[in-house]
Amino acid sequence: MRERRAIILRGIVQGVGFRPFVYNLAVRLGLSGFVRNRSGEVWIEVEGSKESVNHFLDELRRQPPPLARIEQLEWTFRPANGETTFRIESSAGDWTGDVFVSPDVAPCADCLKELFDPTDRRYRYPFLNCTHCGPRLTIVVGVPYDRERTTMARFPLCAACRAEYDDPSNRRFHAQPTACPACGPRLQLVGGSESEREGEPLASFAHSLLAGRIGALKGLGGYHLVCDARRDDVVTLLRHRKKRDEKPFAVMVRDAESAVALVEATPEELQLLRSPQRPIVLLRKRPGGVVAEAVAPGNPFLGVLLPYTPLHYLLMDAVEDVPLVMTSGNRSDEPIAHEDDDALQRLSELADLFLIHNRPIRVRCDDSVTRWVDDQELPLRRSRGYAPMPLSLPVSCPTPLLAVGGQLKGTFALGRGRHAILSHHLGDLDHATAYEAFVRDIALYERLFGVRPEVLAHDLHPDYSSTRYARARGEADGIRLEAVQHHHAHLASCMAEHGLTGPVLGVCFDGTGYGTDGAIWGGEWLVGDYRQWRRAAHLRYVGMPGGDRAIREPWRMALAHLADAGCRDLRALPEGPSPQERHIVSQMLERRFNAPPTSSMGRLFDAVAAVAGVRQRARYEGQAAVELEWLAASVGVDGGYPFEVVAEEENSWIVETRPLIQAVADEALRGVESARIARRFHSTVVEMIAHVCDRLRQVTGLSEVVLSGGVFLNALLTHETTARLRDQEFRVYRHRLVPPNDGGLSLGQAAVAAARHAGRS
Ligand code: ZN
Ligand code: ZN
Ligand code: FE
Repeated sequence: MRERRAIILRGIVQGVGFRPFVYNLAVRLGLSGFVRNRSGEVWIEVEGSKESVNHFLDELRRQPPPLARIEQLEWTFRPANGETTFRIESSAGDWTGDVFVSPDVAPCADCLKELFDPTDRRYRYPFLNCTHCGPRLTIVVGVPYDRERTTMARFPLCAACRAEYDDPSNRRFHAQPTACPACGPRLQLVGGSESEREGEPLASFAHSLLAGRIGALKGLGGYHLVCDARRDDVVTLLRHRKKRDEKPFAVMVRDAESAVALVEATPEELQLLRSPQRPIVLLRKRPGGVVAEAVAPGNPFLGVLLPYTPLHYLLMDAVEDVPLVMTSGNRSDEPIAHEDDDALQRLSELADLFLIHNRPIRVRCDDSVTRWVDDQELPLRRSRGYAPMPLSLPVSCPTPLLAVGGQLKGTFALGRGRHAILSHHLGDLDHATAYEAFVRDIALYERLFGVRPEVLAHDLHPDYSSTRYARARGEADGIRLEAVQHHHAHLASCMAEHGLTGPVLGVCFDGTGYGTDGAIWGGEWLVGDYRQWRRAAHLRYVGMPGGDRAIREPWRMALAHLADAGCRDLRALPEGPSPQERHIVSQMLERRFNAPPTSSMGRLFDAVAAVAGVRQRARYEGQAAVELEWLAASVGVDGGYPFEVVAEEENSWIVETRPLIQAVADEALRGVESARIARRFHSTVVEMIAHVCDRLRQVTGLSEVVLSGGVFLNALLTHETTARLRDQEFRVYRHRLVPPNDGGLSLGQAAVAAARHAGRS
């Protein structure tokens, strides 16, 4: 019995090698019919025996191409028409069909086999790839996505590559970046001494690294600085050159087995490490590992990543499995270098020699960073390998929109229909080069995904570069603006991730966000959904002496909280600031001059860290809070500190921090060890959250809680808060797809703007 079925697939099904996959499967099973892309869907008709057709459906569901994600599969019967061949129908004229650009993907198993097969024509070729793997976002310059509109345009295909490219049964059918040694990009070694440059570039580069040199490596989304991770002297030199005192470096190892020699990892963590996205995964250091202390000084964790390009594989092979520091090619806090001239110039004092190649990088894309907490991923930075994979929106976006995100950890998001496309990480928009990339990449994404925004969503903060961009563009192009309060965007971001429509209780804890009253918010309990919300509780305001300087100097927040709590005995503030500095800051607080009020939980962590003697000055953002977390995690649960919740007005509360600060100061003065203080403080914050949520549930009847904001990068706090709230029979949601910090803001803004325009939420 022959039968024919029409199958419609939705999800990530285009630009991921789906059509050749379907073709090959159909041919293998002796089915006839066709496959075509149709505005965001894949449309298939297959005809053959019932068994074969069923088999076909099973395989589709069970083993789709590695980059595909089938969200929906529907089928219906069709009359059989006796067709005998299977064909791929072109999608000319259907622009939505081919515009989807996938994230960059690590080499697939087939490509790796070729890479190390001496009989293969691509043996040891650093730029091999296929439909299932290779560069995508980082090389695309326009639409439709084809070779001419990538940075591979300058490399005409040789006859052998062309034949593969044109053959529907070949793994490289329409693989836009495909290349081979005859036609593709090449490596070149630049800098170093003449003798170092002798011989094959990759081997010479590896040799120099093993001899203790610092190299710059042109990778996928930018330049990396690379050195032997075992050598303290070399890593220290790199730190010195990069002006990066203590911020940890990531380490690349050849494979999961090599990783396990350095760090402890569960099967889930290993899976994350091996995933095609190849993020940097934060893992607990194993005692006695070979990695030098200078790589992640004083840090119980180590960021580890596996090779994610053929070039990396060859390099790890050439250094014979020695772990390599792999850190972004820049000076501290600058955006990663990605253009050759710029890199050679900017990195000339940082690197001894450069391994470069002639495939341009169009989109600068940093490594993604993630960790595994409880039973889920907790992303710290969502960038290479993840962007621009679309995320589902819980509300349909009737008008195409652009959400421009925040200021630090910039990302933007395009919204259209039920999807949001969240950009790669753009860094700190204070930097001119980061801002330029922000503007340029918005334009690129709009072309790539065919979105002409009719709504611009932005943060309330008037001075964010992203806000200024939105305002200027709104005015110039006559586009409607939607201002979204910072913590509301955090709440919406976490809701959107989980497809919640609310209303929910939101615990939004971060460093800084502009409040509707002009104060700096950051310790907020919100109640609401995408469209409506209110601030239900917040930490008591204290001054933030010196504004942003207080972020880099936790002792300032300590002084602010101590003064606020009436702790006159400043011996509670350990060594750090000079008497003069203290005096100036005390004056600021007394006169309320240059000390804007803040309810920030991040700053409360800073204050406690400083009073507990953990850290007076931060060398990188959030360092004091991170160290407080490590200390807390090093000892067992041991009580907490008092706090009070007082009514500000009806159903709106202030969480009093003075009793807490008094208790912390008291213990610090009595010489209680900092780990104990850190531990008790964490328990107190968990208690605060649980207590306020409980009161809010009594008032609102809501029992769904979302946890968002950068403070929830704290794994201990996230874990304990979740457990505690679940004990109280709350349903708890936290981030697992986008970072809880400002990197996830644009998603929340997009969801809010979509809901406001959808007229429903
Ligand atoms: Zn491949
Ligand atoms: Zn070729
Ligand atoms: Fe924030």
